Amino acid sequence: MAYAYDDQNIFAKILRGEIPNDTVLETAHTLAFNDIAPQAPHHVLVIPKGAYVTHDHFAEDASDAEIADFTRVVNEICKRLGIRPGDGGEGYRLISNAGEAGVQEVPHYHMHILSGRPLGRMLKKAD
Ligand code: 5GP
Repeated sequence: MAYAYDDQNIFAKILRGEIPNDTVLETAHTLAFNDIAPQAPHHVLVIPKGAYVTHDHFAEDASDAEIADFTRVVNEICKRLGIRPGDGGEGYRLISNAGEAGVQEVPHYHMHILSGRPLGRMLKKAD
């Protein structure tokens, strides 16, 4: 698997501090911040600090420490937002778009956390 990472993508610029962001949580390997164009009352983006393009790239090449940290940051945000079903919260949706079919706009791996309204069915039929 070969991925060429474009270090001029917008999330790379956020990680370098060249563009501001509304940080929700930052750890050694992971940054979480609010989406600039939220699709739901809660719309948080979680990104690894490493240069990974997609979930598969991250899963293959990231260290166990990076993967564990990322996974736990996603959970910690859901916990802080009070949206975990196990806590009596309303629930949430995780989405990670990859490549052309996934309509990925920013080529740095990211997980969307969405909640705060009924999110409807997972997918609409394609136009
Ligand atoms: P994708 O389509 O790649 O899965 O999602 C990219 C997401 O990044 C979109 O939801 C978009 O609103 C968000 N986004 C794009 N540019 C910026 C930015 O400069 N700051 C923040 N916080 N979010 C951004």
